[in-house]
Amino acid sequence: MQELRLIWRNGKLVDWQEATTHILTHALHYGTAVFEGIRCYKTKKGPAVFRLKEHVRRLFDSAHIIKMAIPYTPGEIEKAIVETVKANEVEECYIRPVAFRGYGEMGVDPTRCEVDCAIATWCWGAYMGDKGLKEGIRAKISSYVRTYVNSGSPRAKTSANYLNSALAKMEAKELGYDEAILLDIHGFVAEGSGENIFYVKDGILYTPHSYSILLGITRDTVIKIAEKIGILIRETLCTRDDLYLADEAFFTGTAAEITPIVEVDGRRIGEGKPGPLTRKLQEIFFRVVRGEEPGYENWLTYVS
Ligand code: PMP
Repeated sequence: MQELRLIWRNGKLVDWQEATTHILTHALHYGTAVFEGIRCYKTKKGPAVFRLKEHVRRLFDSAHIIKMAIPYTPGEIEKAIVETVKANEVEECYIRPVAFRGYGEMGVDPTRCEVDCAIATWCWGAYMGDKGLKEGIRAKISSYVRTYVNSGSPRAKTSANYLNSALAKMEAKELGYDEAILLDIHGFVAEGSGENIFYVKDGILYTPHSYSILLGITRDTVIKIAEKIGILIRETLCTRDDLYLADEAFFTGTAAEITPIVEVDGRRIGEGKPGPLTRKLQEIFFRVVRGEEPGYENWLTYVS
């Protein structure tokens, strides 16, 4: 990891190396943390954080679900995020706000541990590589089932949920694939290990309607862009066969952006290369995040 200079920690900017935590931090043992992944893009008017308000809102929603009171207001966290990006003097970065049950008492009950907050930033290129973004990646349906609504909390971005993701990701990579696609408990397609999924069939764009997904902000961005350019979009139950027979497919996520999927379980998707609608959505998306597409300005928070 390429280190930057400063990390925001409970209200103060501290040196990167000083942003450490005690080994008996509750969240380290019991997964009691919520976090966000946000990107800040280079634009003509300087660095701009993409959909800051929506990400901070989801952070607070995640905390609410796990009954953890973040000791700041959403407005204070938004300000702190902008301040952290500015302090690190980067043109583009990934931003990781995290709130977690800290050091206090051991045992499963987190309520006696104080809530610790931090915001770190780092430079992060294409999540599955530049080649993946351009030429597409190969995905595998996972043997791991996405966290069930009444076991974990798929709507909350908790660190605990990411063991499920990590197991699926390791399995996919060990089998020679780039990414995993997890099904929900009923066997319908849910999402990738760190992305939502879309596919195209006969000119219509589909994305799973599943209770077992994280409601991605990039997913919402793609839905809104597609609606604006007149693409029919359907949120529906989706099976692995739907993916095998799709004309095009892609993942969406803050880290993954819009990554084309060209193969699922050894079956070629469409022509085995990123399809025309995927390309079009990718092009518009990258113009939107860089402030080059009119009509989307309210999604950008300029840092300077
Ligand atoms: N699903 C999962 C499991 C994820 O980790 C992510 C990444 N945050 C997403 C979907 C996509 O969410 P977003 O577009 O808000 O980054």
